Amino acid sequence: MKIRFLTILTAFVVAAMAVVIALVISFEGSVPVYRSLWFKSLFWPLPVLVIGVLILVLLRRKEFVAMNDSLKKALEGERIFRMFIEKQSLEIASAKRRNEAMLESLADSVIGIAPGMSITFMNGAAEGLTGLSAQEAIGKRFRDLVSIKQDDAPGFSIGDYIDSALNGNAIPLPENVYMQKPDATNTHIAGVAVPVFDDQKHVDGAILAIRDVSYVREVDEMKTGFLSVAAHQLRTPLSTIRWYLELLNDPSEGKLKKNQKMFAENAYLSLRKMVGLVNRLLAVTRLESGRVPVRPEPTDLKVMTKEILDGLQHKLAERKLAFRANLPDLPTVLLDQTLAREVFENLIENAIRYTPDGGTVSVDARDDGGSISWSVTDTGIGIPKGQQDKIFEKFYRAANAVEHSSEGSGLGLYLAKFIVESWGGSIEFTSEEGKGATFRVTVPKTGMKPKEGQVSLNA
Ligand code: ADP
Repeated sequence: MKIRFLTILTAFVVAAMAVVIALVISFEGSVPVYRSLWFKSLFWPLPVLVIGVLILVLLRRKEFVAMNDSLKKALEGERIFRMFIEKQSLEIASAKRRNEAMLESLADSVIGIAPGMSITFMNGAAEGLTGLSAQEAIGKRFRDLVSIKQDDAPGFSIGDYIDSALNGNAIPLPENVYMQKPDATNTHIAGVAVPVFDDQKHVDGAILAIRDVSYVREVDEMKTGFLSVAAHQLRTPLSTIRWYLELLNDPSEGKLKKNQKMFAENAYLSLRKMVGLVNRLLAVTRLESGRVPVRPEPTDLKVMTKEILDGLQHKLAERKLAFRANLPDLPTVLLDQTLAREVFENLIENAIRYTPDGGTVSVDARDDGGSISWSVTDTGIGIPKGQQDKIFEKFYRAANAVEHSSEGSGLGLYLAKFIVESWGGSIEFTSEEGKGATFRVTVPKTGMKPKEGQVSLNA
């Protein structure tokens, strides 16, 4: 600014002096003083001024070029930065589109939920499953839009699962959960609510991933229905065969030869196993279909255990097993006698079956405050470590059990677990192969809740 002012001022002075010189030269003849040396010496600074002006102009130019260069550099920098930002934005937009396309193409329903519980995203599958469009759902709360219920659990709320996810925990939805549509149809669903974390590992929202499992249930129900019919149909001919075999084994119907008697006895034993298997199958299908009634009545577990043991006395004696019972007085609990017997009898029978002759079987029970803990321990073949996680599966029998005893269906523990869990208890075991096993059942003092049903477990 200063330099520019000086340049202009100097240029102005030089121009003024040049005008004066021109005037002096043109009036040199008529004005004598103009010709005198002292007057002419007044103009000697003129070259200095001209040179000064030139230097200033040059300096100014240099400065201008430098400024121009840095300005160019700044502009180039800004252009590169803008290009970088544009590229980044394009990449972010395309990554977002890719993610959305991926979520869209999923067969499972995906619902994005913000920390405040409102919906932020819904893929096509979720729209199809819920019957809502993403547009109408976004910004609203999932639980306000969709009615999700659980069989036999009036307190179930999908909001609790979303809440847990927003608190950082991924929890799968329980079984028997269904979505009630506005047209009153139910769609059974399975799924999980999972938290979404940001870079700082803070919860930034949740994802509810669900899918329609109605077809799985239908297939399951068909399988159960088929088994139920097959087992039921098998019972009638088996009863007839049993009746005839009993007649054959009855001496009043005529004496059999020694060999014939052995054949008839073996046939009868095999038949009994078959009847046992068919009855177990029927019990499983009936329980799974939810048609078995639950009729709780005050039950003294000590008395029930003693009755079961009395019934199994002959087996204990046959196998020369030592038996111990530690059964204190226990409070009565509301239990369905048939269902409870199925559990305890099966566990004691297993202990007897899988304990070699001369071993020991003991039954213990104790009052644990909120529940009764009941257990049976044996010194038998135990369960191999590698197979322990499978023994509650349907039809599963550990290799050493198959080798030890041909009797058994692999359905007893499945049934026992099903029943114990239905009364809100737990069943677990500890075992070491070759050293025995302990099976423990808990019975909450709240007991079983009554339920209507069409068929009894074993009839
Ligand atoms: P099973 O009719 O074969 O006894 P369960 O369902 O009652 O069927 O038991 C499943 C499997 O668990 C058995 O085949 C056996 O391998 C194992 N098991 C159960 N109880 C015992 C036990 N007391 N000792 C050793 N193994 C056992």
